[in-house]
Amino acid sequence: AEPGDEQTRRAVARRLGTFGRGAVLFYREPIEAVSAEGVWIQGADGRRYLDVYNNVPSVGHCHPRVVEAIRRQVGTLNIHTRYLNAVVDSYAERLLASLPEPIGNVVLTCTGSEANDLALRVARAATGGSGFIVSEMAYHGNTAAVTDISPSSRTGRPLAPHVRTVPAPDSYRKPDEHPGKAMAAAVSEAIADMADKGIRFAGMVADTIFSSDGVHADPPGLLAPVVAVVHAQGGLFIADEVQPGFGRTGDALWGFQRHDIVPDIVTMGKPMGNGFPMGGMALRPDLLTAFNASDKYFNTFGGNPVAAAAGLAVLDVIRDEGLIENARDVGRYLRDGLREIANRHLAIGEVRGAGLFIGLEFVTDRESKTPAPETASAMINGLRERGVLIGAAGAYGNTLKIRPPLCFGKEHADAFVDHCDAVLNRIQG
Ligand code: PMP
Repeated sequence: AEPGDEQTRRAVARRLGTFGRGAVLFYREPIEAVSAEGVWIQGADGRRYLDVYNNVPSVGHCHPRVVEAIRRQVGTLNIHTRYLNAVVDSYAERLLASLPEPIGNVVLTCTGSEANDLALRVARAATGGSGFIVSEMAYHGNTAAVTDISPSSRTGRPLAPHVRTVPAPDSYRKPDEHPGKAMAAAVSEAIADMADKGIRFAGMVADTIFSSDGVHADPPGLLAPVVAVVHAQGGLFIADEVQPGFGRTGDALWGFQRHDIVPDIVTMGKPMGNGFPMGGMALRPDLLTAFNASDKYFNTFGGNPVAAAAGLAVLDVIRDEGLIENARDVGRYLRDGLREIANRHLAIGEVRGAGLFIGLEFVTDRESKTPAPETASAMINGLRERGVLIGAAGAYGNTLKIRPPLCFGKEHADAFVDHCDAVLNRIQG
């Protein structure tokens, strides 16, 4: 349907005219964003929108310390990594200090996709294998190789022959199953199936909060038996921290730390520069050595001093403003608030998540647990009308993906719960 007002209709026509009709815009009535601060986005319509969706400006939109770090560095030096530069080295050291042994090297990129693409190359070189395992609705990025391991981008097309999927953990629909043991068994089967077809296993790539599968964080530790199987079969475990990393889960800086595992490779992006494009891959030094024996990697813009300055400021703000603790406390408070309204709204099937990464799943009724994507979609548009930005995820598109900037306060959580309550009152009659 066409948007209602003339100004929006013209702005949409202008966008589709240049970017093509396939260009994706959120909402029946798309929002024109003009500026942002903290948890708020200012619209061209004069309204201010509460951002409960965007996990890139993770320490808050236009955080003054990050803005100032970028401004200062871009006026001083901005160049690639083939010259020594103390800002870049400091950043690499700070990042590695946040990761467990034996992870000891880092390669900086511009996007999460590039980081995952490189991780696949490293895993192939280090293991001699080519087979990868991912979750059923995984998204790991947009390069050709990474699209092969992103089943959520390939709907309607068969998986590439070297890729196998395993179901994501699902405490709601499979309450009787131990998610870690079930996933470990599925991974074993997938590796055996690859072997049958002459494909050697290289590794498993997993978003440690399974965001595109619908946000599945529990129980903590679930990935430990999975990683044990991956290692026993000679593969590498690649933790894709693009979504859960940089404090979002409220447990620690990294989502995998919730599961008491040590990945072989960690990839990261999105919140790393709070909006300045940057990504990275951290890994065991022996793996990088194995890769470099037969291959090379250079990224013109990856790890430039401006990105490094932005990245350092992000780490400083997370520490100085206690954002991991805030994600933990406000996240718990928000889940409690949503569970409270779930007592009245039977359309809510489950509230789950960790820190400020919460899934709110809608069903047609609680007995059958039939997914209700139409309720999720009505919520997204109803909340937008009330000035709140949110999106959906999961195999059925029926789970709201709640992941606001980490400076989200209890007052914002209260407002969000009240808005959800009001929209549910309206759409459920
Ligand atoms: N991995 C995950 C889990 C992601 O969610 C995304 C982006 N949505 C990526 C990788 C790719 O990152 P980018 O868009 O920066 O290439």
